[in-house]
Amino acid sequence: MDTQSPTTLLYATDSYLRTFEARVVATEGHAVALDQTAFYPGGGGQMADHGELIVDGRRLLVAGMSKRDGIVWHELAGDADEELPTVGALVTGEIDWPFRYRMMRTHTALHLLCGLIFREYGAQVTGGQMYPDRARMDFSVQAMTPDFVHDVERSVNDAIVADHPIKVYQLPRAKAMKIPDLIRTKINLLPPEITEIRIVEIVGVDLQADGGTHVHSTREVGGVKALRTENKGKQNKRMEIALVDDGDTVS
Ligand SMILES: [Zn+2]
Repeated sequence: MDTQSPTTLLYATDSYLRTFEARVVATEGHAVALDQTAFYPGGGGQMADHGELIVDGRRLLVAGMSKRDGIVWHELAGDADEELPTVGALVTGEIDWPFRYRMMRTHTALHLLCGLIFREYGAQVTGGQMYPDRARMDFSVQAMTPDFVHDVERSVNDAIVADHPIKVYQLPRAKAMKIPDLIRTKINLLPPEITEIRIVEIVGVDLQADGGTHVHSTREVGGVKALRTENKGKQNKRMEIALVDDGDTVS
């Protein structure tokens, strides 16, 4: 049993991978670690994936995820006496794609939102979180007027239609520390042992150090609508957005 090597994160280089094969490298109660995985363990405001691990034709539900010391754990649902996969077993993983794809569209929408709000108003992000049906982001601004919200919503939807490509790549830390857009997003707060930084770039709009999964082009986001704003303090305002799906219209 080798729990020392970190899990290979297949989603980090191919966010569209839905099924994969892997070997069990460790088990701990109902949690299973694999040599590689396409399941996103959660983090950076993006919710963890769920889905199934298929072992000898049996479908085991992945009900929760966690990541500790570079190892991704797939927490299986089910009762205690159910037979769990053993170390060395070959498994097929299948992520819940409709859920993941919504997360990818939502995550890219949030990066558009913070990139545009910074470019147009100079406002910094102070926090954010995605949910299955919406997302929120907090900004360091004194006020969010209805005009501001309307203008931001229109800017985001214009950027979606403009079909900006999204590139994901690694940069050496020293190089990343020289890019103003990255410094703005406080990459200096990343632990010093991280020497390679994963960059998500919405070409022409936003550049961030980010570990999440994104769509390939902004057009895939479809469209967004602003749901509501909330006062979180004198210099901190929250905006909630949702994806616009079939049947919805942008206000
Ligand atoms: Zn992000």
